Amino acid sequence: MTLDSHWFTEVCEEGGSALSLKIKRKLHEEQSEYQRIEIFETEKFGNLMVIDGFVMLSSRDNFLYHEMMSHPALFTHPEPKRVVIIGGGDCGTLQQVLRHDGVTSALQVEIDERVTRLAEQYFPELCENNSDPRAQFLFGDGIRWMKEADAGSMDVIIVDSTDPIGPAKGLFTEDFYRDCHRALGEAGVLVQQSESPMYHMDILGEMHAAMRAAGFDTTRTLHYPQPVYPSGWWSATMACKGVRPEDFRAEAAAARGFSTRYYNADIHRAALAQPEFCREAFGD
Ligand code: SAM
Repeated sequence: MTLDSHWFTEVCEEGGSALSLKIKRKLHEEQSEYQRIEIFETEKFGNLMVIDGFVMLSSRDNFLYHEMMSHPALFTHPEPKRVVIIGGGDCGTLQQVLRHDGVTSALQVEIDERVTRLAEQYFPELCENNSDPRAQFLFGDGIRWMKEADAGSMDVIIVDSTDPIGPAKGLFTEDFYRDCHRALGEAGVLVQQSESPMYHMDILGEMHAAMRAAGFDTTRTLHYPQPVYPSGWWSATMACKGVRPEDFRAEAAAARGFSTRYYNADIHRAALAQPEFCREAFGD
């Protein structure tokens, strides 16, 4: 929704709130086969991608989300080599995954090729590593793809999807998590963007229950700020198989051979701490 020609506004009905960003101009607008995609140039947040009226990312603050969607999961797995990203068409998560030298393959399964093509055009800084030989791109439905994936064929699965509506709805179900559990090796980590603990505890609660019902030993929500998402407080939820979130490779995280803007070992530890209302809802 646009209040007037100078502001983009996303209304969050369930939060009874809205976020507005001052815009300079609309750079692009299209209806793809799957969704309505808009790109704006903002005054202070760089470029902004919006899908079906919901903010996906801005140039200014996407590093928070992309670093927290990737590094905690990769440093929780003892030796992550084979990584699959479901969604993530803007390539920001893929870029962070490729910073890990031990990763031998990073496959991005995005339903809408147009998101990736527009990211290449309007967020080129996120796509700089797309020609890395370890990066692979498949344009198709991640739910169907995961159903057919070989058992034990991946170490880390990152679900970087839109909200649980439209084509992403099935990514938040026990059936999908069961397929992920089967596709992971003996040690495996699934991490998924899990909305705002301020506004979406119903979704978070259902995710924890469905992940555990699908066979994961442990589930844990990571908390981090994300200014352009509803409430500004966002989360990712990890489901672990044969590994424990608190046993993450803190020394390797501290000695990582690449630079980050938000993530470090202390941030990782802090993100694992649970507010009382989350502890009551999902346990530790
Ligand atoms: N950071 C964003 C957020 O939380 O709002 C997510 C960004 S990324 C652009 C989300 C992507 O998930 C979209 O490009 C969308 O096309 C993709 N997606 C949604 N459902 C999908 C599915 N079933 N399989 C693969 N990709 C899917």
